[in-house]
Amino acid sequence: LELERLGIHESVAQVFPPAELADYLADLPVAVSVIGDDGITACDAVVTLEYREAVLEVDWVHSIQAGVDRFPFDALEDAGVVLTNSTGIHDRTVGETVAGYLLSFSRRLHDHVANQQERRWERPEWDAAFTLPGSTACVVGTGTLGTGVAETLGGLGVDLRGVRRSGDPVPGFGEVYANDRLLEAIADVEFVIVTVPLTDETHHLFDAAAFEAMRDDAYFVNVARGSVVDEPALIDALEADALAGAALDVFEEEPLPEDSPLWGMDEVIVSPHCAAYTRDYFRDTGDIVRENVDRLETGEEFHNRVV
Ligand code: NDP
Repeated sequence: LELERLGIHESVAQVFPPAELADYLADLPVAVSVIGDDGITACDAVVTLEYREAVLEVDWVHSIQAGVDRFPFDALEDAGVVLTNSTGIHDRTVGETVAGYLLSFSRRLHDHVANQQERRWERPEWDAAFTLPGSTACVVGTGTLGTGVAETLGGLGVDLRGVRRSGDPVPGFGEVYANDRLLEAIADVEFVIVTVPLTDETHHLFDAAAFEAMRDDAYFVNVARGSVVDEPALIDALEADALAGAALDVFEEEPLPEDSPLWGMDEVIVSPHCAAYTRDYFRDTGDIVRENVDRLETGEEFHNRVV
């Protein structure tokens, strides 16, 4: 693989200005430039948020996201295109976002913000607020996101339980369950937090049976991908008070349609797929790209290679 031209596709603008990343990588021994769709095939490598068919003609594609469920693995492989992703950088950002959701629920911060919009001085019911220490969160997916969530919540006194395919122990988690024991793992905890990749196996992993297994005073958090959850089943559970509430960063359809009932529920926090946002994002992703350009020169295997 000869690397002469690296393009930063304009779709990364959804997360940071493309020119910031181009500047950050300007000292690489390759030509780096910001490109639109028509510039893709002139490059050897492309850094992008969105998939375009034209990337089948380049040698290497880097996704600025960890989730690469929108990329066609078979087509890339057939075309001999290497795909790398950005897993490994979202531990602290997503961990802090999830801590923020839990603190909102426990300290009722979302109620205060809603009341403030109405200039309403209204204290919570005497038994609505609580504290986090002594509660348990079950984190489904114990990779970068899951361990970042565990580290942040652990610091707030939350007990952590994990779910992964192997069930092998992971630092930061008191207990780890294999995924065939999912319903058991989520049955008696106050918080269920989803941090798995979207795959054939995890599609609609959280369905009516999963919500039925959870406590009716438990909160559900999804920072993974919308389709890991059967969204109508979640809405039914929330409407039936079979759950206390939910914090959702990702949805089956994004942007979340204006007529979704999730927008109007008091105990639901909606964020627009930004749990991992940080002003350092272009640096974090740039460091992975730089590492791989270095590895290309020394002939080492790519870091974070997916295809
Ligand atoms: P990692 O690859 O680091 O971790 C994924 C984890 O999921 C692993 O611990 C894996 O463990 C586990 N896992 C995989 N399949 C299953 C399964 N069927 N059942 C249970 N556990 C499973 O990925 P990241 O943590 O970096 O990212 C995870 C996902 O989060 C991404 O794919 C993306 O979709 C989403 N994401 C969302 C963001 C946002 O902005 N909201 C930001 C970044 C990521 P094991 O191999 O043992 O099963």
